[in-house]
Amino acid sequence: MSTVAPRADLESLPKYVPGRTIQGAIKLASNEVPGGALPSVAKALAEAATGINRYPDTGSQALRDRLAADLAVPVERIAVGCGSVSLCQQLVQAVCAPGDEVIFGWRSFEAYPIVTQVANAVGVRVPLTAGHGLDLDAMLAAITPRTRLIFVCNPNNPTGTTVRRAELERFLDAVPGHVLVALDEAYREFVTDREVPDGIEFTRTRDNVTVLRTFSKAYGLAGLRVGYAVAPEPIADALRQVYVAFSVNMLAQVAAIASLDAADELLTRCREIVGERERVHAALLEAGYEVPPTQANFVWLPLGDRAAAFAEYLMDRKLIVRPFQGDGVRVTIGTREENDLFLEAAREFLR
Ligand code: PMP
Repeated sequence: MSTVAPRADLESLPKYVPGRTIQGAIKLASNEVPGGALPSVAKALAEAATGINRYPDTGSQALRDRLAADLAVPVERIAVGCGSVSLCQQLVQAVCAPGDEVIFGWRSFEAYPIVTQVANAVGVRVPLTAGHGLDLDAMLAAITPRTRLIFVCNPNNPTGTTVRRAELERFLDAVPGHVLVALDEAYREFVTDREVPDGIEFTRTRDNVTVLRTFSKAYGLAGLRVGYAVAPEPIADALRQVYVAFSVNMLAQVAAIASLDAADELLTRCREIVGERERVHAALLEAGYEVPPTQANFVWLPLGDRAAAFAEYLMDRKLIVRPFQGDGVRVTIGTREENDLFLEAAREFLR
């Protein structure tokens, strides 16, 4: 007798491992910001909550109009999704036929291989450089006639490294026109190196560049799930075509707009996190760790086979970080007090 079964290839699908949350422990595992909702955002949410018997605007028109005005980009070129992870998936669905190839650095954002395989496309992982950064030359060399999409995560999750303007321009000049480059800028607001370009400028002059941004990190709305893409018009149209109707909910749309209203305050918080990032980075180097330079709200400790042991050691001290066994550990920058506890434990680990 035949039985219903999931797709056979799902057995080989990499698992997305979310950061653990444990009562009473400090979570430095998911690159969230430590501050809770601003009063103005909480108020906008409370007001909007009275209308939740109605469906949200499936086109997120008010949010897209606002983003278009703030970014000086035509609204037709903006698409929103349930976090930028959803937009990653929508992008693969929008540009890839089964068997088409998607290139990304490895290690990079964990969701890339998953969304690629779910869409029946083929992921091509290109190893990072010895300095833990994206190897753009090797990514170029990996392009084949089947390549449709390249994810360039800048800064790269989980290593925090960046590609700078001159290098990125050379890369974009060399990518064939039929290949879409997705600049994933989830951590853009934490970038202080002026040589790391704002990807949106490339979307004004090139028709094969898309930028992905999120409200989850600097804007503090990880729990609400909203992000956006700035894309060439046909790609933005396609992103909206594959979008699951009504999936960006009403509260997320309202909170995103309220957060844009409060951008100054939120970006001040980012500057504080950046200050802490620099302090934590310097302290780890001084303690004897190798830590690549980071432009995001996390640091990367390339501990290789000691990654899991390091994470366990910290867990015993009620600190949750994100190990990638065999590779390294990613630690999110928290409050000053949280970072001090982490640094103390990291120093003890080496003793
Ligand atoms: N891109 C990168 C590089 C990320 O690190 C993340 C979150 N970890 C995302 C996209 C997705 O974020 P969200 O779906 O919350 O917008």
